[in-house]
Amino acid sequence: MSFSYQNQILFAESVAVTDLVAAYGSPLYIYSRLEIEQNYQKFDSAFGKHPHLICYAVKANSNLAVLNTLANLGSGFDIVSEGELQRVLAAGGKAENCVFSGVAKTAQAIKFALEKNVRCLNVESAAELDRIEAVARSSGISAPISIRVNPNVDAKTHPYISTGLQENKFGVEIEAAIALYQRAQDSKFLQVQGLDCHIGSQITEVSPFLDALDKLLILLEKLKAKGIQITHLDLGGGIGIQYENEQTIEIKAYVDSVLSKVGELEIILEPGRAIVGNAGIFVTKVEFLKQNSKHSFAIVDGAMNDFLRPSFYNAYHQILPVNQASSGIQANWDIVGPVCETSDFLAKNRNLNLAQGDFLALMAAGAYGKSHRMHQNIKIIPMFFEC
Ligand SMILES: *Cc1c(COP(=O)(O)O)cnc(C)c1O
Repeated sequence: MSFSYQNQILFAESVAVTDLVAAYGSPLYIYSRLEIEQNYQKFDSAFGKHPHLICYAVKANSNLAVLNTLANLGSGFDIVSEGELQRVLAAGGKAENCVFSGVAKTAQAIKFALEKNVRCLNVESAAELDRIEAVARSSGISAPISIRVNPNVDAKTHPYISTGLQENKFGVEIEAAIALYQRAQDSKFLQVQGLDCHIGSQITEVSPFLDALDKLLILLEKLKAKGIQITHLDLGGGIGIQYENEQTIEIKAYVDSVLSKVGELEIILEPGRAIVGNAGIFVTKVEFLKQNSKHSFAIVDGAMNDFLRPSFYNAYHQILPVNQASSGIQANWDIVGPVCETSDFLAKNRNLNLAQGDFLALMAAGAYGKSHRMHQNIKIIPMFFEC
């Protein structure tokens, strides 16, 4: 465990969280390099000698130190914007190991990605294929592509993070994919490489992944019959982690089931949450305690703009005291932030003993906490404008 108590103080690896907040202030994100490395190795080693590439999904956490840790392990990256590719490159990652996903790739981002030689663009619509072809033509190159299909399987997760159903905006219908592949095959400026899907996030059972894979394999056979050769299969990310008491997927068992179905084909996975989720905590300070006749509020310095998941998805995160020895008032506390929104809460109804000035750790905050879809690298220009 990368986060554990020693003498009633919460430690991140071998460092006391109390020392870190003393040095850096609060609210504060703390990441465990060790945990990230171990999570990555679990995926990588599950494949053994089978050709594979683990492409960490940058949008789960684009912190440069996180990206650098993964780049040092030889990880690939799944990016959804030019800014994310810039961050990968700045952190020492290789464009050749990047797959470019996302439904709204701009012409500028496509051009940048092609110039940097990304491994593959995961195409999400017919219009996008046209745009990629046009950019490739004007640059005089052939763009490596994969079509992201929407296999119409239920990932059995929160509706906001289900992406593989017909009603979701992602990918193209399997039936329509063949025509797109045919178009790509016939173009000098497009080079067919892979077949791709990503059915959702925080998935806690293997069966939806295998259902999707079966559909992809049927499509693969149809493409083969038309003389369209696919050299890699990209199964996306989506592997869930434990926030409360969810079952989780055993990665080796998942990979073994995949490998038993795919022959020699190279496999790409795009895990985000499963690599960084449990490697991060968010530490916040209790500014005030406030009780009325019905409710107990602990008002903390971290808010929904720092960590959105509870407000946005009603997500549960375990809350731990940084110092177990601190003693105050025992109650069922709502942990709320300073933003003027009733939805600004980090946790509700938690039985804790709290005092003003305590630090609290919100656990498993490594993924989709400090998360931006980096359109460009953040530029701070004098009018305080960020993009
Ligand atoms: C978000 C996303 C991922 C990562 O999903 P996790 O649930 O964090 O593993 C992978 N691929 C694509 C295309 C995504 O949009």
